[in-house]
Amino acid sequence: MSGGSNAAVRDVVIVGSGVAGLSAAVYAARADLEPLVLEGPEPGGQLTLTTDVENYLGFPEGVGGMELIQRGKEQAERFGAEFEHGTVEDATLEDRPFELELSDGDTVRTRALIVATGASARWVGADGEDELMGYGVSTCATCDGAFNRGDDVLVIGGGDSAMEEALFLAKFADSVTVVHRRDELRASEVMADRARDHEKIAFRWNTELLEIHGSREEGVTGATLVSHPDGHPTEKLEGSAAPRAPSEVERETVDVGGIFYGVGHVPNTDFLEDTPVELADSGHLETLEGMTTETAVEGVFGAGDVIDPDYRQAVTSAGAGSMAALDAEAWLEAEAARSELQPSDPAPSV
Ligand code: NAP
Repeated sequence: MSGGSNAAVRDVVIVGSGVAGLSAAVYAARADLEPLVLEGPEPGGQLTLTTDVENYLGFPEGVGGMELIQRGKEQAERFGAEFEHGTVEDATLEDRPFELELSDGDTVRTRALIVATGASARWVGADGEDELMGYGVSTCATCDGAFNRGDDVLVIGGGDSAMEEALFLAKFADSVTVVHRRDELRASEVMADRARDHEKIAFRWNTELLEIHGSREEGVTGATLVSHPDGHPTEKLEGSAAPRAPSEVERETVDVGGIFYGVGHVPNTDFLEDTPVELADSGHLETLEGMTTETAVEGVFGAGDVIDPDYRQAVTSAGAGSMAALDAEAWLEAEAARSELQPSDPAPSV
């Protein structure tokens, strides 16, 4: 437990326990800063939803995402990092020490803050998804794919996540159809080739998911897809900003038993919205220019997917986590030196 607002002030609190948060925790703990890691609503972050990680340096045979995270946590704990289940609802960053209000009502106070809250799966916005998410609609094939043994399933998206989901689902499903809004994949060549070469995986180009059919009792039973030869069909529907003649957008209803989203992620920065840190239009936490994890608020640092709209790799997140801890350590030392220079009593007159 963190205790009430009178609880001791920590040197460093790390919000988020994905690869960036864990790497920050290892570095901060080895610097004797006794960091507290608030694990958040998705402990371990996105890697815990991944099967094999093949591009993390040092694992020529690949490594399971969950295993990598568990070992990272053990490594951080070995050096004295403390972990606590806690989700930050609100942050007060105008004054120091910073105050973090957790969803259970506790308050955590800290001199330095490392934001490593990552990003969460984006939803498509199709009709029916609110009702059926978790009832046949999923953002995580590794979590839910085994429920679709023998089904025909859809995977929405054209990036590496969608390819990974499709390849994983092909182990269980009868058929996997990747539905992509353009006619070109965004995925890396190696992942795209694996999916294209798989006999159970087919592609629907220039197509989007409009509506999901089914109920919580019977799960997903079907989907309405729309397509247009120029891509992005939903943008061309009546009532949208660029409507076309309805006949140009084709609609089709297909029978499917599961729908998996692989359409990217949105950064988890809601709790920073009314604070003086800067957020980009995409929601990412902005860091200062140059190679630093510092933000517009002194003492607040960012690492991992929450600051990174471009690279978003496990290995870059780990690197950014280590940088954030080193930046926080240097800042805390400079702060301590500054406060020692400030005389608390007037100098005696001579
Ligand atoms: P991403 O690269 O941003 O791809 C998202 C895909 O979803 C894009 O194809 C996008 O279409 C589509 N999309 C977005 N919003 C949509 C909507 N509302 N409706 C329909 N389609 C929509 O995201 P990601 O695949 O999650 O990958 C993120 C990063 O993680 C990448 O750097 C990737 O390399 C990495 N990653 C790597 C691996 C691996 O190596 N094993 C696995 C997963 C992810 P457009 O193409 O038209 O924009």
